[in-house]
Amino acid sequence: MKILIHLIAESGIGKHMQEIACLERKEHCLEDVGLTLREAKKLLGAIQQRMVEQQVEEYLETQRSCPHCGRTRGLKGSHPVTFQTLFGNLELCSPRWNHCGCRPNPAKTFSPLLELLDGHVSPERLYLETKWASLISFELAAHLLKDTLPVAETVNAASVRNHLHRVGERAEAALGDEKVSFIEGCPREWAALPHPQPPLTGRHRRLLCAAMGRQEGALRSDRRQINGRGWTEPLLRVRPDV
Ligand SMILES: [Zn+2]
Repeated sequence: MKILIHLIAESGIGKHMQEIACLERKEHCLEDVGLTLREAKKLLGAIQQRMVEQQVEEYLETQRSCPHCGRTRGLKGSHPVTFQTLFGNLELCSPRWNHCGCRPNPAKTFSPLLELLDGHVSPERLYLETKWASLISFELAAHLLKDTLPVAETVNAASVRNHLHRVGERAEAALGDEKVSFIEGCPREWAALPHPQPPLTGRHRRLLCAAMGRQEGALRSDRRQINGRGWTEPLLRVRPDV
């Protein structure tokens, strides 16, 4: 039996069909039933590569014209970029365009794809690496990624750690500047606030302890009844340690 898998992409720039994989099964045995892990990883990697290529092509098409005058931006050159995803490291062609002359620009050229693929790593890849690296060692996280997903064989403890640090720095930056105090206002306004009650002493403390003791006594009584019926020990406990 032969199974052909095609990817059909429909977008504003047309309809494209590409062959993704051809799977063959010659013998009827348990090992050949369904996809193997190797085939699944290869399939995912191929779909991801074709899908992202189509998305990039459509994105660049929408960005090619100047938003102010509508003229097509000139091509200055191109260079290869690697986009790291959970389903493989994708090699893409990143064009460099000239800025349109209708407005002043500090730079003569720019790379539109770098604005879309900020950081060159997909958010899901960073998320899963960070999650696994927080539970197990960097090396084990790298092995787990390579065992289950079509990531590059170059993934190792150092790359996982680098991505973890990147996420950590972004989380730190999102927190903003460090605050010395979380109480708003100035000392003059704080002085106008009502003073808290002093700690309990003497007769009031003895009265409160007695009340708490009565509550614990009631709980003990309930617990004995529950245990008498063969139920489990309740976890709730009131401590009169005021
Ligand atoms: Zn323009």
